[in-house]
Amino acid sequence: MRKYNNKPNRTSYKNKELRLKEMENGCIECISHKIPKRGYPIITRDKERQKLGKYLYEKEFGKVEKKLDMCHKCDNPKCVNIEHIYFGTRKENVRDMMVRNRNQKGEMKVNSKLKEWQIQEIMKSNKNLHELGKMYKVAPATIRDVKKGKTWKHITKR
Ligand SMILES: [Zn+2]
Repeated sequence: MRKYNNKPNRTSYKNKELRLKEMENGCIECISHKIPKRGYPIITRDKERQKLGKYLYEKEFGKVEKKLDMCHKCDNPKCVNIEHIYFGTRKENVRDMMVRNRNQKGEMKVNSKLKEWQIQEIMKSNKNLHELGKMYKVAPATIRDVKKGKTWKHITKR
């Protein structure tokens, strides 16, 4: 399994260091702070309350539009694993939820493959990973791998 830096560096909340733990199912949960029942782990950044999952996601993939809701492929609201988190409009989220319930599976199926010309566009683009992911309907981690040359080497290293 690939390892990503999900740890918020020196992030603390209420003067207590944030500690995250990876669960057996791959979810990463906050174990240092009490999480509101049915709620998301919250931290305060720049005097603003923010969901911890969103904070970690934006740190890796770039800014997310305010109008979008945070949701989880794993259906575990406590999870802050940025590979499990995605953002969408309320309408998209409701649709995804229905698809998931029908399939009775935790993983959402997003199998859209990128085309060669899209890879070239991605390499040239200055947009952040989140925005590009939305544009091409793939996970931001997929875009990151393209940018880093992990995938599609034959195109990006030409
Ligand atoms: Zn998860």
